[in-house]
Amino acid sequence: MTDRFADIQLLRYEVPGFAALTLRQKLLVYYLAEAALWGRDILWDQNCRHGLRLRKTLEAIFRHYAGQQEQQDWQAFVLYLKRVWFANGIHHHYSYLKFEPGFSRDFFLTEVSKLDASLLPLHQDETKEDLAAELAEVIFNPDVMPKRVNQANGEDLLLTSSCNYYAEGITQPEAEAFYAKLKADADPLRPPMLGLNSRLERKADGCLYENVWRSQGLYGPAIDHICEMLCKARDYAENDRQKAVIDKLVEFYQTGNLRTFDEYAILWVEETRGEVDFTNGFTEVYGDPLGLKASWEGYVNIIDQEATHRAKALSDNAQWFENHSPVDARFKKKTCKGVSAKVISAAMLGGDLYPSSAIGINLPNSNWIRAEHGSKSVTIANLTRAYNEAAKGSGMREEFVIDNETREMLGLYADICDDLHTDLHECLGHGSGQLLPGVDADALRAYGSTLEEARADLFGLYYIADPKLVELGLLPNDEAYRSQYYSYLMNGLLTQMVRIEEGCQIEEAHMRNRALICRWTLANYPEAVRIVQRDGKHYVCIDNYQMLRQAFGELLAEVQRIKSEGDYESARHLVEEYGIKLDARLHHEIRQRYERLDLAPYKGFINPRCKLVRNEEGNIIDVSISYEETYEEQMLRYSTDYNTL
Ligand code: ZN
Repeated sequence: MTDRFADIQLLRYEVPGFAALTLRQKLLVYYLAEAALWGRDILWDQNCRHGLRLRKTLEAIFRHYAGQQEQQDWQAFVLYLKRVWFANGIHHHYSYLKFEPGFSRDFFLTEVSKLDASLLPLHQDETKEDLAAELAEVIFNPDVMPKRVNQANGEDLLLTSSCNYYAEGITQPEAEAFYAKLKADADPLRPPMLGLNSRLERKADGCLYENVWRSQGLYGPAIDHICEMLCKARDYAENDRQKAVIDKLVEFYQTGNLRTFDEYAILWVEETRGEVDFTNGFTEVYGDPLGLKASWEGYVNIIDQEATHRAKALSDNAQWFENHSPVDARFKKKTCKGVSAKVISAAMLGGDLYPSSAIGINLPNSNWIRAEHGSKSVTIANLTRAYNEAAKGSGMREEFVIDNETREMLGLYADICDDLHTDLHECLGHGSGQLLPGVDADALRAYGSTLEEARADLFGLYYIADPKLVELGLLPNDEAYRSQYYSYLMNGLLTQMVRIEEGCQIEEAHMRNRALICRWTLANYPEAVRIVQRDGKHYVCIDNYQMLRQAFGELLAEVQRIKSEGDYESARHLVEEYGIKLDARLHHEIRQRYERLDLAPYKGFINPRCKLVRNEEGNIIDVSISYEETYEEQMLRYSTDYNTL
């Protein structure tokens, strides 16, 4: 288990398939990964104008502290630094609230005074005392920069947010007027992402202007390093389109021209043939209360060959699955083509994706580009896997699974079945079946998305128990499917409730779908599954796995009929009866049991480390990847090696 502190747990992710890449591809990954790391300081400055000086000062204290390790102030200081590292600044990465330091102002001032001035980020003519006093106000005064992004209605969102996208003193109405004018002059059909790549500042005469993030501009030193690495990566591109993507991105970084950014986004979204892919740049706008300015992020991914192969085995057999499904022949597709999903693995996370990361990608953000050129939407399998691994050590199974025998079965098969169920859902389930002629695709209205998810899940549940999957080599034996049946029912009947506040009902479509399937089965197949009580705790007890398959097949046939016929009344009945309401007492019990496990609500990742391997003549012969670095080591190394601003 890796680092756990405050409300955070750090995980590691492995990069499956890295070793199988060609040297050329590995070098492409290596240089793109370097480009993803060189932008780190940009984000620190975007999050808070004191962020970089504060980090450098805290790290100087951390490296040179000579006092007692047991001292309470020191321990609280280390905790604070770990939290600041994780958030890329002094505000919580999720709540945006400023961290409360557990150490004293005196401790901080004293430790700074002990340091040699050369170790500190001093401005010209600034003394150590000046620096310490300025930063102490930022750290210890709760009224200074209390929130990074304030969204409260009725307040001036710029004056009350401490992010660094607008110069001090610029008001919300001023900024809005500035961008309203730019917008009025822009192409209404294909508008650029106005404001995306600049800090709004004020000239001496009082007028506002954009200080653009580009080579020779604001953040130029960091951007030049990124471009240098992108250019090296270009030499190892897998195809000409990839080269064109990189060229266009470098051009954008050099000019800061938002039209060039759109051209880049189009090239990027249309490049889908490479096994290596990346994003690098000013991307998401959650950190700006006005939603215009994008934080810097970078990451690199490679195709997950094994998972992609699995998805292909299913989609190649799509017609067989369609023909053999338990639904009425009138609702089956005559010619059925599976979706060949591309599954990817992250190879490096940087900027605003590090250490806390998204587990899926859906880009670009420009609406007109999405409409005209599409988007890339993928899930990052190795990050999901790391979350699953962490869940194993969490005590969830010890608390909620009924007995040891079932736990052992889950230990053997749960991961493989879970992945396979997802593939069946995505590659076959959603694409199966057809509407009867004349039926409106939106006939089920508000119940449509829950029923659609149920249809895809049921398709997966029905087929995961089919001998065909063992025959295709996707499951090791004809009992493995049981683990998916148990964990699916446990989640749908009990544990998914932990994510819902007490007093609330189920809202989200995927959760409604799971509740619907599980509670319909519980009500209609009592010989197959029961909820039992032991020592005051409720558990799922499965008495007949084969009968469960029959239940899922029956419900699949019914849900397909509802969809094919557009039978709104039946859809409404199923969802309202089984998918929404929670039993308050059971809900309370499950939440209490979950809270006692004391799990960290937020997770993030330590990156692997990539290194060039050279032979005696100095030629590069390989790229190695390792997973040993600790959280502290990695943070300190990044601060040293990618120090640009
Ligand atoms: Zn789905």
